[in-house]
Amino acid sequence: MSKIIVITGAGGVLCSALAKALAKEGHKIALLDLCKEAANKVVTEIESSGGLALAVEANVLDKTSLIKAREKITQQFGECDILINGAGGNHPKGTTSQSSLNLEDLKREESDFKTFFDLDIDGIKFVFDLNFIGTLLPTQIFSKDMVERQDCSILNISSMNAFTPLTKIPAYSGAKAAVSNFTQWLAVHFAKVGIRVNALAPGFFLTEQNRTLLTKEDGDLTPRGNLIIEQTPMGRFGKPEDLISTTLWLCDKRSSFVTGVVVPIDGGFSAYSGV
Ligand code: NAD
Repeated sequence: MSKIIVITGAGGVLCSALAKALAKEGHKIALLDLCKEAANKVVTEIESSGGLALAVEANVLDKTSLIKAREKITQQFGECDILINGAGGNHPKGTTSQSSLNLEDLKREESDFKTFFDLDIDGIKFVFDLNFIGTLLPTQIFSKDMVERQDCSILNISSMNAFTPLTKIPAYSGAKAAVSNFTQWLAVHFAKVGIRVNALAPGFFLTEQNRTLLTKEDGDLTPRGNLIIEQTPMGRFGKPEDLISTTLWLCDKRSSFVTGVVVPIDGGFSAYSGV
C-alpha cells in the first residue's frame, strides 16, 4: 500500500537514494531539506521516473519551520505514515587533528591544529544539535499524526560510530550514540500506540563530505581511508544502494514486530576487533 513518507536531509547523498528507492515502490515522498535546491533536484528525478514527490524547505532545528512543512505536506499528500530522520553530519570544529594526544602536540602553534583542549564548544553543540535535536524535533512534529494508525514507523540514521567511537570525532560519535539510544527509548515509549522506531547504522560511505578525507586527488586512498578499508572485513566502502533493502524492510509491515533495533550496514566494521 502506498505510504506518505517524510525524509529529512533528503537532498543529501544517502537519503536521496532512499527517497528514489521508496518512490519507485509507489510511495509519496516529501523531501525536507535546508537546501531546497538539492531537494528539488531529487524531486525532478523522481517525477521523471513517474514517481510522486514534493520538495519542502525546512530546518530540522526550527520547530516553526517544521510545523509549516507539516502543514504543506498534509495539504498536498496527507498525514505522514513514515518519518526518516536523515539530516545529520559532522563539523570540523568538533574534530581533533590527531587520533591520540602526544606531548609534543601541546607545543604546536598552528591555528588549524586542534587537540582535545582546543575543541570549540560551539562546534560540539552544532554537531549534537544537528544529529540529536535534529532527530527529536521532527519526530515530535510528525509522529503525532501516526498515533493509533496502521503501519506507521520512524527510521533514524545513526552510525556505526555509535557502537564504538571513531578517533578524532568525539562530538559526532557521541551525538550518534544519542540517536541510537533515543531510537530504543522511543521504540519503548511508542510501543502501545502502534509506532515502530528503528535505526540504520551506516558504516563508511564515500560521499562528497568525506571524499577528500578518504581519497586523494588521483583516487588512491589516504592513510585514514586505508585504515578504514583494512578494518572493514568486506574490504570496501558502502554505496548508497547498500542501505535500500534494509530501509524497505524496516518501513514495511513485513517488519511489524521489529522495533528498537539499530541495524549496522557496514561491511562488518562494527563486528571486527581488528585481530
Ligand atoms: P549529506 O551531507 O549528503 O546530506 C545531509 C543533508 O542534510 C544535506 O542535503 C543538508 O542540506 C541537509 N541538512 C543539513 N542540515 C540540515 C538542517 N538543519 N535541516 C534540514 N536539512 C539539513 O550527508 P549523507 O552522507 O547523505 O548522510 C545522511 C545521514 O547519514 C546523516 O545523518 C549522516 O550523519 C549519516 N551517516 C552518513 C555516513 C556516511 O558515510 N556518509 C555514515 C554514517 C551515517
